Amino acid sequence: MASRPFKVVILTSVPPQRVARIMTRICREAPEAQVVGILYAPFLPKTLQKRIATWRKKGKRLVYWRYVLHRITAAAGRNLSRLLDAGIRFIHAAPRWPNGKPGDALAALKAACAANQVELFISPDIHADPALDFVRGLNANLGLVFGTKILKPALFEIPKQGSINIHKRKVPDYRGGGAVGLWELLDDQKEIGVTVHRVEAKVDVGAVFRSALIPIEPFDDLESLALKADVLGSDLIVATIRDFANGTVTETPQIGPSKYFRKPPDEDLLQMKKKLAAQRKNEAYDNPSRRPAWELLLKSLVYAAPLTLRNWRRRWQGDFPVMILRHHLVSDRPHRSGVSTVYFLRQVNYLLRHYRVVSLSDAVELARKGGVKVPTVAITFDDGYADNFVNLRAVTEETGLPIGYFISTGHIASGREFAHDQMSNQQGFPPNTWEQIEFLRRCGYEIGSHTRGHSDCGSTDEEFLRREIGGSAEDIQHKLGPTAHFSFPFGLPQNISAPAAEIACASYKNVFSAYGGGNFQADARRILKRGDFPHSVWELELQLQSVLSGDVNEPSHLKVRIDERS
Ligand SMILES: [Zn+2]
Repeated sequence: MASRPFKVVILTSVPPQRVARIMTRICREAPEAQVVGILYAPFLPKTLQKRIATWRKKGKRLVYWRYVLHRITAAAGRNLSRLLDAGIRFIHAAPRWPNGKPGDALAALKAACAANQVELFISPDIHADPALDFVRGLNANLGLVFGTKILKPALFEIPKQGSINIHKRKVPDYRGGGAVGLWELLDDQKEIGVTVHRVEAKVDVGAVFRSALIPIEPFDDLESLALKADVLGSDLIVATIRDFANGTVTETPQIGPSKYFRKPPDEDLLQMKKKLAAQRKNEAYDNPSRRPAWELLLKSLVYAAPLTLRNWRRRWQGDFPVMILRHHLVSDRPHRSGVSTVYFLRQVNYLLRHYRVVSLSDAVELARKGGVKVPTVAITFDDGYADNFVNLRAVTEETGLPIGYFISTGHIASGREFAHDQMSNQQGFPPNTWEQIEFLRRCGYEIGSHTRGHSDCGSTDEEFLRREIGGSAEDIQHKLGPTAHFSFPFGLPQNISAPAAEIACASYKNVFSAYGGGNFQADARRILKRGDFPHSVWELELQLQSVLSGDVNEPSHLKVRIDERS
């Protein structure tokens, strides 16, 4: 594309799906630049000879044998959970891959490159002559080093303006390797840094182009910090490339004393993780199961057989309900409606293994059309909390999860915290900004309305309801274009008056409650049902199977079917 003069080449060794992700982001978010090529040198597994040499060296240390034992028990645990998964799939009458069998990631990268007119060169040695020739031939302005071994100037100096690299810690204080956040957590730091800097022959010493800080919050661990650093790091890469392309880039040299850290061997890392877990035990996210384990176990055993029969019948008849779940915020600080980043990822991974996970629009279409032969779930978030911008996005980038995102537009505009938080004395949880909402929409989130001021629509004051329900549709229309979706704040029957239901259904194509239940085509309601996200995965499973749902007293205006006039 001749209209995009600023050319970028990516030099990388990370798994193909991560390469495809960063390439797609640059193509989507930096229209001033064009990724012209990718030099891909996948990390190769160690040879048997090298492995034997390692065993001989490490075998003298006791911690190494502890690590080996840990690996063996972890593998046994994985096999056990595979067995459990197979059992759950049988009860669900679900296929082996409800979201499609994961394909060949390298083939997918090749296809993505072809679609974006990006040349891909795969080389076992990143410094081999053909690899260097490939990069020279691209005539690129900038190189992006994205997860490789240490590179030589012969490669990273080929692009006209040199190369940039991402470093997921603060420089110059924390140069070098090791898991993201490891040294900072051990040092009891309050934050980690992410920087994009110039690649130099000496590791991590180059001038800094952009940087960001990630606070270390009570529920953070190595996994959550790595997820957040990934997503913020990609944000910084895109922003730096745009700076280069627009000629607005600034370089800040690193000054002050520096420290270089060496990546610890796996067996030492395990010991460090144990130490960290013990240190941070009091702060760990408490998986708040609302019911005792014995009750869940009893219910699971009693219902297993009838649920299996019911689900196989649903599969044959194609009448599985479409379940829609509601969360509020992914946060690593305590909040009564929050879930930690790592625990949310666990919930999502469970859902992806056992349910077909669809977008909100697809969920509505399936619920209306019927013929649902696979257990199906959609995930929504209410209110629009700022914490989601990094934490939720860290999980959706990692998993590709589609999100329906309902916002109270008055709060987004004013930045005012939610009244329900103030009432429960929960401070410091502001809403998203419009800029963030626009960004989330570009990432594929479906933005819906949740009134202007997070108002209780149990009111019968029609003027007030019109302002709140219709007004927020106008706000979204004005900022982002029209939206089809609306969810009632609080969402219980008492929070949805008859006039509120009328006004909402007149203003939006799809309207959602939040008092639980599934959406069946045979009983296609005008107002679609959603249920809360229980915190523990076990409760989530039982709720999705309708084992835990209690009786709800629905007034007649909530029972109106889509084809009826009320
Ligand atoms: Zn709400």
